[in-house]
Amino acid sequence: MLADNEVNRVLVVTAHPDDADFGAAGAVALMVDRGVEVTYLLVTDGDAGGNERSQDNAGMAELRRSEQAAAAKAVGVTDVRFLGYADGTVVPSLELRRDIARVIRQVRPDLVITHHPDRNYMAIAPSHPDHRAVGGATLDAVYPDARNPYAFPELLRDEGLQEWTVKEVWLNGGMTPNHWVDITDSIDRKVAALLSHASQVSHREGFEGFVRERMSHNATTAGFGPDRYAEGFQIVPTA
Ligand SMILES: [Zn+2]
Repeated sequence: MLADNEVNRVLVVTAHPDDADFGAAGAVALMVDRGVEVTYLLVTDGDAGGNERSQDNAGMAELRRSEQAAAAKAVGVTDVRFLGYADGTVVPSLELRRDIARVIRQVRPDLVITHHPDRNYMAIAPSHPDHRAVGGATLDAVYPDARNPYAFPELLRDEGLQEWTVKEVWLNGGMTPNHWVDITDSIDRKVAALLSHASQVSHREGFEGFVRERMSHNATTAGFGPDRYAEGFQIVPTA
């Protein structure tokens, strides 16, 4: 596993606005505290999300982009990019692999954080089909697409984007987390980030307590003891 001082740039690739905040915002806030540059890449605008909506999908997309920008800001992230795929229809296509590989070559991250591509049989929400598609396409973009100069040659030929090798990937939402980050010092910022997604969470009674309870449960699983909070990841070495 990479040491803290080996991680200078991080790319977080998710399907929807709020995914990064549910899965990784606590760890991201601590990285930003250490001076790490973090970029969020969202494959969709979350235009099919929301509750008791008064908006059409285009209006929802615009609202959710601004909510994600606010959520990112709550943990110190200002570089937020969108690919604009339609919510609920994402497949791990060659086009998506190329679009993610392009951003990997632009950002040149040491670490990528994304969804686990396998179905989680212990909980249904982590296995949204868009999550599995984005997780799979991102791993494919990490290896081989971004590091192979002959893969998607137009990226080099037309855009001057040199190959780049990501050293490590952290997967969110799987059944077999093997790395826990103590986020006790950033749980308040994680909650603030999540509350920025008002169109998704404002109607959920006891939402903040739900988030804290879940992160506290993670900390217990991790063996961090009481009154701690944690996020879990599965680490894939990709150097
Ligand atoms: Zn999602």
